[in-house]
Amino acid sequence: MSEHFDLLAVGGGSGGLATARRAARHGARAAVIESARLGGTCVNVGCVPKKVMWNAAHTMDALRRAGDYGIQAGAPRLDWPVLKSRRDAYIERLNGIYARNLGKDAVTVFQGHGRFAGPAELEVDGQRITADHIVIATGGKPVWPRIPGAELGIDSDGFFELATQPRRVAVVGAGYIAVELAGVLAGLGSDVSLVVRRDGPLRGFDALLQEGLVEALPQGGVNLINRFTPSAVRGEPGRLSLHAEDGRSLDDLDAVIWAIGRHANTDGLGLEATGVVVNERGDIPVDAWQNTNVSGIYALGDITGQIPLTPVAIAAGRRLSDRLFGGMTERKLDYENVPTVVFSHPPIGTVGLTEAEAREQFGDAVQVFSTAFVAMDYALGEHKPRTRMKLVTVGAEQRVVGVHVIGTGADEMLQGFAVAVRMGASKADFDNTVAIHPTSAEELVTMV
Ligand SMILES: Cc1cc2nc3c(=O)[nH]c(=O)nc-3n(C[C@H](O)[C@H](O)[C@H](O)COP(=O)(O)OP(=O)(O)OC[C@H]3O[C@@H](n4cnc5c(N)ncnc54)[C@H](O)[C@@H]3O)c2cc1C
Repeated sequence: MSEHFDLLAVGGGSGGLATARRAARHGARAAVIESARLGGTCVNVGCVPKKVMWNAAHTMDALRRAGDYGIQAGAPRLDWPVLKSRRDAYIERLNGIYARNLGKDAVTVFQGHGRFAGPAELEVDGQRITADHIVIATGGKPVWPRIPGAELGIDSDGFFELATQPRRVAVVGAGYIAVELAGVLAGLGSDVSLVVRRDGPLRGFDALLQEGLVEALPQGGVNLINRFTPSAVRGEPGRLSLHAEDGRSLDDLDAVIWAIGRHANTDGLGLEATGVVVNERGDIPVDAWQNTNVSGIYALGDITGQIPLTPVAIAAGRRLSDRLFGGMTERKLDYENVPTVVFSHPPIGTVGLTEAEAREQFGDAVQVFSTAFVAMDYALGEHKPRTRMKLVTVGAEQRVVGVHVIGTGADEMLQGFAVAVRMGASKADFDNTVAIHPTSAEELVTMV
């Protein structure tokens, strides 16, 4: 006997849960299949535990700088096991909240690995489930290098399992996860090298952010090593060495963390039973409505290779259910101007086009405004990190198509500016907005 639903989400992460809950609220019979913990990557091994660690590092930094304000706080000392157990307990509470919310919305949860048995049917532990609409939201997982000794390292999932603080670490990768893990560990007092294959991290971000980050990394205690292509890991856990193709090595490492990218998770999903195609990268391609090539099967979130962020997966899922069950036939996600933050030290906030992208699209119609300054929080101390900001505008009306900030507060600053960019605000709109003083954000509305 199989159980039938209007909508079935495969994967109980950001996208799957949002889709199923919104479908249920529209009155559909909805279900989710989840093989691990509810909440997916973001809640269990992503955004949430990462932000807890970032907050901890931020607090350590504030304590170190307390003397600048005449406050005698002493040298801060971290009890890693306490931090980890409090963080784990918080996440367990969140898992419970997710389960209760699904119950409130009458979404059925199947705990186990889902595998397609046909285009409208899945099997979980021998049980058959059918649905009119099936959403694949199985997310992504970390990529590992294929080099000797790679298994001696850990990935970002392993980072969150570390029971003790690694004393000396190499974080390998150039993306935002590598940058964030390196910054957190250094902020918490580890000796950290950030190892990148080419020249510097965060390729694809605006040049001002890349430059700002390269300046900030050593100030935050991260040793940036460029043009280092790992060729092997040797030694034993707690005493590892990371070797490069050119003969260089980093020795006496407690941990090597691979953060070299993520790929779509279609493991054991049985896609062959459906006819759903995957592209050469392994992602499931979708159209603007999250439709795969098979009618009645949709995909969203990291599995699609679209912008891999939690709010993107949630927004795509909610819109899909609005369209399928809420009568909103034109509802779909606009993937343009999605704001994002890199929780580096200091953080980066960015929305819209980089200067390079704008110049490629609009040529000489692009005009750029930028500034660099020392935020007031650092006025009394010796350490004077610079906040940098850039507005990218287009045309005679100076429509703002990009806002890029690196500096204290950038993480909380960008959300509102992203609204302005989406609404098509011009530089004059920014300038006509009265500043909030004294803040760093005010510099964005006072740039000349
Ligand atoms: C270290 C790290 C930090 C991050 N930080 C941020 C951040 O600060 N902000 C942000 O917006 N994003 C962040 N992300 C990205 C964010 O976590 C993802 O974009 C988001 O979780 C994608 O949601 P999803 O629904 O596509 O997939 P996921 O959340 O990965 O959920 C997929 C779920 O499917 C389950 N699953 C897989 N296959 C099956 C199957 N066959 N049967 C049943 N269940 C299955 C998995 O167990 C998983 O729970 C971070 C990611 C990482 C790794």
